[in-house]
Amino acid sequence: MRAEIIAVGTELLMGQIVNTNAQYISRGLADIGVGVYFQTVVGDNVQRMKESLRIAKGRADVIICTGGLGPTQDDLTKDVLAETVGQRLVMHAPSMDKIEQMFQARGVPMVESNARQALMLEHSEPLANDTGLAVGVALTHEGTHYVLLPGPPKEMKPMFDRYAKPWIVSRMESVQPLYSVMLKFAGIGESQLEHALIDLIEAQGDTTIAPYAKEGEVAIRLTTRAVSEAEAQTKLQPLEADIRRRVGEYVYAAEDIALEEAVLRRLADQGRTLAVAESCTGGLLSDLLTNIPGSSAAFAGGIICYTNRVKHGLLNVPMEQLEGVEAPGAISEETARMLAEQVLALTGADYGVSVTGVAGPGESEGKPVGLVYVGVAARDGETTVKQLQQFGNRETIKLRSAKSALYHLWK
Ligand code: ATP
Ligand code: MG
Repeated sequence: MRAEIIAVGTELLMGQIVNTNAQYISRGLADIGVGVYFQTVVGDNVQRMKESLRIAKGRADVIICTGGLGPTQDDLTKDVLAETVGQRLVMHAPSMDKIEQMFQARGVPMVESNARQALMLEHSEPLANDTGLAVGVALTHEGTHYVLLPGPPKEMKPMFDRYAKPWIVSRMESVQPLYSVMLKFAGIGESQLEHALIDLIEAQGDTTIAPYAKEGEVAIRLTTRAVSEAEAQTKLQPLEADIRRRVGEYVYAAEDIALEEAVLRRLADQGRTLAVAESCTGGLLSDLLTNIPGSSAAFAGGIICYTNRVKHGLLNVPMEQLEGVEAPGAISEETARMLAEQVLALTGADYGVSVTGVAGPGESEGKPVGLVYVGVAARDGETTVKQLQQFGNRETIKLRSAKSALYHLWK
């Protein structure tokens, strides 16, 4: 079954709102094994809406429209579909009652146009709207299934989940949901990962391998269609094992969690804590960590030692080491080491993690943009420092440096 989502609304085209409805519906359809082949956005314009429906009918079995079910002049989706399939619009009595009651309860007279929200196509099924007034519509015409849902996400989502999805399932010949496994990687770039798996990616069949990168992390999603979880596992497991044989050392989770969450979970399990000394990341590492609920179980805190004065004053790095012609400087292995060790001593944490480097755009201490040192000091172990060369703009370098520090701790 091929699906197309048509999001109706001029505000979407003008960039005033983001088309989150399409994203939500696409995910929900994937859960029931319906592939979305196209997402369309069209303005509140009768001719162009008709055109979109006509095109969608030629390439999809199920067409889901959102938006334009409201009471105003520009809410035209039902009218357009009615004309397209040659049906009249009729009143859905229970919805009309609900609208009247709502106005009575508020003590304001009902405006004529509000009755439009109770309209449905004469041969359609109503989809109840438990969180709003406009009734939804489900209809099969000439072998194509149509679903009309309102635009506001707080109405659209429950209607889609409770009523539209089961209706679509009831129209499907065989239900083969999609199953997927997510592997998350750190310490390896997207292209390096792709290179290691290129033969698998090129040979993929009905089990797909999709690498992607976002927010300083790389992930691979393996997806397959199967009648049961067990069947899905027989298809996914050998592939996952093969991938792990090649690049397993970089895998930090087999679920969609951020590296900071994986790190915090492991520390909490071990009953250990972490403190940070951040120079070039300026608090970003602490921000990432504290975005995870319950982070206080493992994250003790830290110091943003942005200037040499703070590196020296609060973390005891000797000025001679930070400044001077012959000095290693603030951006050096020596300083990263001391920052990690000092913050560990100062906070009594089990691990001290430091980041110092050049976020750019200009060089610093005569050192190139993207040169970063991350240090990890352990209460009962030695301190290790890693030198990295990051690429990208200032924000990217900061994010990658924070993630690299976490990865260095993870290893
Ligand atoms: P209403 O009764 O509110 O007019 P409607 O069904 O007519 O509902 P629209 O008028 O198209 O829907 O959109 C109403 C609001 O719903 C928009 O202003 C926007 O906030 C939200 N919305 C509409 N379409 C989308 C979409 N595709 N993704 C996310 N939000 C949307
Ligand atoms: Mg509207």
